[in-house]
Amino acid sequence: MSDTFDGETAIVTGASRGIGSGIATKLAEQGASVVVNYRSSERQAESVVDEIEDRGGEAVAVQADVSDRDDVAAMVEATVDRFGSLDVMVNNAGMTTLGPAADIDVEDWRRVIEVDLTGVFIGCQAAGRQMQSQADGGAIVNVSSMMGEMGFHMRAPYCAAKAGVINLTRTLAVEWAEDDISVNALAPGFIQTDITDQTQDSAGYTDDDIRRRTPMARYGTVEEMANCVSFLARGDTYVTGEVLRADGGWTSDAWRYREDRA
Ligand code: NAP
Repeated sequence: MSDTFDGETAIVTGASRGIGSGIATKLAEQGASVVVNYRSSERQAESVVDEIEDRGGEAVAVQADVSDRDDVAAMVEATVDRFGSLDVMVNNAGMTTLGPAADIDVEDWRRVIEVDLTGVFIGCQAAGRQMQSQADGGAIVNVSSMMGEMGFHMRAPYCAAKAGVINLTRTLAVEWAEDDISVNALAPGFIQTDITDQTQDSAGYTDDDIRRRTPMARYGTVEEMANCVSFLARGDTYVTGEVLRADGGWTSDAWRYREDRA
């Protein structure tokens, strides 16, 4: 067990499954007491807590909808009451909707923006206020997407929200640097989780298409994303306002795209 986060407390939103559960498990392995946030999947969140405890870590599951300010404020308050501080906030919870931009219902648009962008702002604001009151500040990591840096067919609200997360991250990094709060973003490529499984059929591409398009020729793993977040969350790097792309080379590669279409 590494001691990178010994004595620290972390909240990971959307940690009942997928990338969030991997991040929660990793930070706990590295010594943090972890709040495993979920919206509706209580059973899954409790099983993430069980797994962490089985490995000797400390965790608690807390229900909160990240798009609801009161829920998130209560979660931060409960965290500080129980563990004494909030040192790492990982705004990971997210959702998507798929469809041609011309046909997207504005309510579907609003829901994605509310969860994926406003939810990140609410999480940053609640955590930032708490960290400003602490002598040691803290670290915030926002999970964006490579789709926040490039357009992507059928995902207008998701791409808009994830792009917003990137520039929100930079802005908060600048605003809170003097409070000793780092704010960074992770921009994953395709990672095999429920979100990819659910969207794949209607998205018009296959697993093989993803492998052919990705320079590393495979999906990323939850473990790899957790390693990246762990790096961004540590307080000894002088890194803030950064967007770490973890996409197997996807956004660096313009050539393969033309090759695939030939
Ligand atoms: P996932 O497997 O679908 O898990 C989503 C998580 O978010 C669940 O724990 C879910 O909890 C939670 N959640 C959703 N809406 C919420 C809300 N309003 N309040 C609180 N929790 C909420 O997704 P994932 O693939 O792990 O994705 C995690 C993050 O990575 C997302 O921000 C996603 O956009 C981003 N990302 C994923 C990929 C990828 O390829 N998988 C690529 C780039 C970026 P409940 O089940 O309780 O609702």
